[in-house]
Amino acid sequence: MRVRPLRLAVLALVALVAVPPLVSAEPGADDARLAKFVDTALDDYWRLNPESAVAVGYYEHADQLTVPDAASREASLALDAKVLDGLARFDPARLSPSSRVDLVLFKDQLEADRWYTETFRSWQWQPSRYNVADSFARQLNTEYAPLERRLRHVLARLAKVPAYYAAAQANIDRPTLEHTLLAIEQNQGALSVFEDGLKQAEGSKLSNRNKALFRTRTEAAQAAIKDYIAFLQAMRPGLEAGGARSFRIGKALYEQKFRYDIQSGFSADELYAKAQAEKASLHDRMELLARVLWPKVKGQAPMPLDRLELIGAVIDELSEQHTTPDKFVETVRQQIPQLEAFVREHDLVTQDPTRPLVVRETPLYQRGFAGASVDAPGPYDPTANTYYNVSPLDDYTPERAESYLREYNDWMLQILNIHEAVPGHYLQLLHANKTKSRVKSLFGNGAMVEGWAVFGERVMLEAGYGGNAAEMWLIWMKWNLRSVCNTIIDYEVHTGDLDQERMVRFLTREAFQSEAEAANKWRRATLSQVQLTSYFNGYAEILALRDEQRAKLGKNFSVKGFNDRFLSYGNAPVKFIRELMQEPAAP
Ligand code: ZN
Ligand code: ZN
Repeated sequence: MRVRPLRLAVLALVALVAVPPLVSAEPGADDARLAKFVDTALDDYWRLNPESAVAVGYYEHADQLTVPDAASREASLALDAKVLDGLARFDPARLSPSSRVDLVLFKDQLEADRWYTETFRSWQWQPSRYNVADSFARQLNTEYAPLERRLRHVLARLAKVPAYYAAAQANIDRPTLEHTLLAIEQNQGALSVFEDGLKQAEGSKLSNRNKALFRTRTEAAQAAIKDYIAFLQAMRPGLEAGGARSFRIGKALYEQKFRYDIQSGFSADELYAKAQAEKASLHDRMELLARVLWPKVKGQAPMPLDRLELIGAVIDELSEQHTTPDKFVETVRQQIPQLEAFVREHDLVTQDPTRPLVVRETPLYQRGFAGASVDAPGPYDPTANTYYNVSPLDDYTPERAESYLREYNDWMLQILNIHEAVPGHYLQLLHANKTKSRVKSLFGNGAMVEGWAVFGERVMLEAGYGGNAAEMWLIWMKWNLRSVCNTIIDYEVHTGDLDQERMVRFLTREAFQSEAEAANKWRRATLSQVQLTSYFNGYAEILALRDEQRAKLGKNFSVKGFNDRFLSYGNAPVKFIRELMQEPAAP
């Protein structure tokens, strides 16, 4: 259930156009003025955030590395203030509905940035924020320029790595134990990225002088990382003895973070209550399905009296139907065209055969998370390939592979592919990249993106995918329970006192998860905040909007009409899409 973190992206700056007069009666003049203002602001933004730029395929500043010191935080806050000031000069009443949403979205994004720096201050207590591996790995592994040019970018950035980690050490103040341990583990992993870079440099056409410099700077960078790890290791006993900050962020910060990150139509409390109700309703429906399936999978055996035991026993039996480790990647590959055909035949959402999904084995440097995820280009480079990274199971122990394949059994694997690929993340991001609104693609809303993928599963099953089989629906409900229970535990972990033992009991009994999956979830719940609610929040909001539109349009409602229009607004939060869908559809 992973999509790579939404990346900021920007279209190449087009030739500057003359600034329209401030007061203009011409329709659309203010919209154009806003669009131009956004372009200029983003140009400044990329200069301050070269790593984000590289992550979205904007390589103008690819030879820069940001040192996360007080000066860089001040520069960011100054830019936020300047842009907010500029946005305040636009009169929403003179903008089209779409530009009005852009204005609010951009403003919200800048206010969120400010809140993260000034109030949330994770730059002080999350040592795991500091890791240069990913941006270097991306540069070494993405052919955005000839190798020698990329290596010269790497060489320039390497020079600043010691300053980067010195600033990191100066920033850390009473971190959590969990983020400290994660930082130690991930930075140890980072060392190998530099080995890889050095090998590439030595085999390249760089001058001997540059090769020597490459070696010196790589050694200095590795020493800086080792020094950072040693610094964190030295803090560890004190943190373990009670000196750490709690990973629980508490109700006040949780509500604020929920507002900034999720941009939901619900409050955090409302969403929590909704998730509790949804869990009860899913259990009711799952019980009915389990009773239907019992004779088929258990024959004459007596049914357990406890309904959760009954549902769990049926799911256990179904989980035994799965592919084998050696066929895993191929099975995924074969399913994609079948899903595309189903979407086409049932007229569910527009596809684009000119931009196919490339299924591949996950590149080595991106492995580490099991399973599958979509790696899509940003709007900056919309014609680049979209990859479906699938990790082969060949380095798994037989026990681990078996447990993984039971989870991604014959039904679940199809649901996973629907979620990640068609009509889930791949199709959604493909539509998002076609929107003309830069802001709506850029300041992507994770709840909308995850919500769509979950909603897409339901669209498929409601259209008859899987032949309405009880097995398919039951396994889907198990998967859906995961999103629902993610919302419940995230809220209880951060605003209450839910501990690991109670959480594992809850997820194994009420969400039918394995011990291993539940234990992983505990780790994720302590390392992240609010993000686990995004799946269910987005899904619940989209479903409500779909039902509202269906009631309003009556005979004129069409599944494809709704889906295409919904996806035409980029990655905007659902509450804004809802507003825009109140307007008459564009001709
Ligand atoms: Zn997802
Ligand atoms: Zn098995």
